[in-house]
Amino acid sequence: MQAKFPLRPGSTLGLLGGGQLGRMFAQAAARMGYKVKVLEKGDCPASEVSAYHIDAAYTDKAAIEELRQTTAAVTTEFENVPAEVLSALAAGGACVTTPAAQAVAIAQDRIDEKTFLESVAGVPVAPHMALLSVEDADLASPDLFPAILKTARMGYDGKGQRSVNNTKELKAAFVELGNRVCILEKKLSLAKEVSVIVVRSLTGETVTYPLFENIHRNGILATTIFPARVSTKVSETVRGYAARIAEMLQYQGVLCIEFFVLADGSVAANEMAPRPHNSGHVTIEAAVTSQFEEQVRAMTGLPLGDTSPLCHGVMLNLLGDLWFDAHDNPVEPDWATLLKIEGVKLHLYGKAQARHARKMGHVTVLGATEAEALSRAQRAAAVLGLPEPV
Ligand code: ADP
Ligand code: MG
Repeated sequence: MQAKFPLRPGSTLGLLGGGQLGRMFAQAAARMGYKVKVLEKGDCPASEVSAYHIDAAYTDKAAIEELRQTTAAVTTEFENVPAEVLSALAAGGACVTTPAAQAVAIAQDRIDEKTFLESVAGVPVAPHMALLSVEDADLASPDLFPAILKTARMGYDGKGQRSVNNTKELKAAFVELGNRVCILEKKLSLAKEVSVIVVRSLTGETVTYPLFENIHRNGILATTIFPARVSTKVSETVRGYAARIAEMLQYQGVLCIEFFVLADGSVAANEMAPRPHNSGHVTIEAAVTSQFEEQVRAMTGLPLGDTSPLCHGVMLNLLGDLWFDAHDNPVEPDWATLLKIEGVKLHLYGKAQARHARKMGHVTVLGATEAEALSRAQRAAAVLGLPEPV
């Protein structure tokens, strides 16, 4: 559907994928008067809060065509939407997809991603090499070990990764990961992990958020502290890199890039997610404009919003494990005690079934100062039985 940009409130916006990121996008869009049409098989977190639901797989040609004909702009909430689907939607220029297929394709392949970051955007990354077959293991330089072997495609939340200390372990890990194309990365000694969110509009306007400081447990994001506790130099360097990456990709929409901060204050880019990111959920309450509102503004051709923090925030991820006791019997977290703590905001994604490691929701804890946000977050974590952030 050809339409005039900026798309006015009341227009219908397409959404590929119906998870929690789609849900929070749909909530931000609805607040601004847009109607969301979500494409996802079955009831899902986003369909509960969207005006329309196309109940089909995102590979269903008729469903894609319906989305193309009835919406002027489509966004994604799931990084593994096949890039061909995005190309089909955008065919003939009838429908704008944010992000575009090409940027999504780069972020879907860790080898293309590292090559782009290092060689095209000029952003430092960990020393690495590509492995196309098990024989390539013999070419690995001893300097790369200890290392992490990652499948080039479809990895997330620490899945598809193995730590390896030498060529022998590397060969075994390559086979164990299914003889798939992999990237071998030197294991860096990390002082901190941070992420940055950059938003680029249809007209090329670009904004970045202050950095997010991330703590992972079992390969899954556990806690985000915003703004990150890093030097101004680190923050400015990373935000500058992010703006350059978005520019080089001619990116449209919300892009998150994870960075490692090393002991000497240098940084290395790790990976990109071509969508809003779990670490950015804290912006819903702790920044003037949330990452989801920016996604709406970017795809409709509106001016981008102010990314300044309003206060300090700590995000605690709520995984399905919290819905089980030590004997694996179902329990309900103690929301009433949690919500007595000042500054606590609860987000649940409407998933009926709790499963271990499943992202069920998150809590954002606000404070006027870093110390206040952190001490409230420690109390919230204690109520939930989570490790206390420090
Ligand atoms: P995922 O897609 O699962 O998030 P990542 O590449 O982000 O995959 O890796 C998951 C985690 O593993 C990172 O957040 C970091 O803690 C650790 N990690 C990944 N690559 C390296 C590396 N080269 N050096 C040190 N730690 C790493
Ligand atoms: Mg990651």
